Amino acid sequence: MNLEEEKAEKIASRILRWGKENFIHYPWREEDRKPYEIFLAELMLQKTNAEKVEEVYEDFLGKYPSFSAVLKSPAGEIAEPLEFLGLQNLKAERLKKSARIVTSNFGGNLPAEKEKLKELPGVGDYIASSVLCFGFEKRIPIVDVNVSRIFSRAFFGEEREISDLGSTLKEVIPRKNFKKFNYGLLDLGKKKCTSRSPNCEDCPLRRLCSYTKTPSQEQ
Ligand code: SF4
Repeated sequence: MNLEEEKAEKIASRILRWGKENFIHYPWREEDRKPYEIFLAELMLQKTNAEKVEEVYEDFLGKYPSFSAVLKSPAGEIAEPLEFLGLQNLKAERLKKSARIVTSNFGGNLPAEKEKLKELPGVGDYIASSVLCFGFEKRIPIVDVNVSRIFSRAFFGEEREISDLGSTLKEVIPRKNFKKFNYGLLDLGKKKCTSRSPNCEDCPLRRLCSYTKTPSQEQ
């Protein structure tokens, strides 16, 4: 085992341990959520914070539990319960269009392939990865700006482009508990490793992180 592998293992186990104690509960994070339910949450979360989405998620899901339920309603009707989130017309149209594509191209179910998921409106790498990991139980990294910041700082001591981090992230993600690991990372980015004022003193990675060892941080 070389040093980086050792570091990757330690980082993964610390994130898992911290994530267990600091897990932020949202309804879409419950066990055994279906791919559609994860997809719906991600669509609602676009440009809206999680606390707002939490307030309408379950009711909306009760009304529209599947793509076939979405297909039966006009976009204007779907938009109504999304008004509280803002961008309700855009979100309703994306959901409706996705329902049409999923029905005509994928037999009514979301595909378990990243490139196919990205054919749906508004779905980029992040949402596709989230659906694959949390809905289809695939062991893949989920990289948003927060996660990319943590890894850039932890391994390189400075911020790097998401595209430069791919291989590092694949090495760090554990074989088991990868969903919990991904949730832990998302929560760590939200609670500790913030963009402007990272709380390194209280971070589970502080002894391993390259950023805390850079000269500007040691002063
Ligand atoms: S030690 Fe600081 S810079 Fe490193 S991951 Fe934690 S909060 Fe971010």
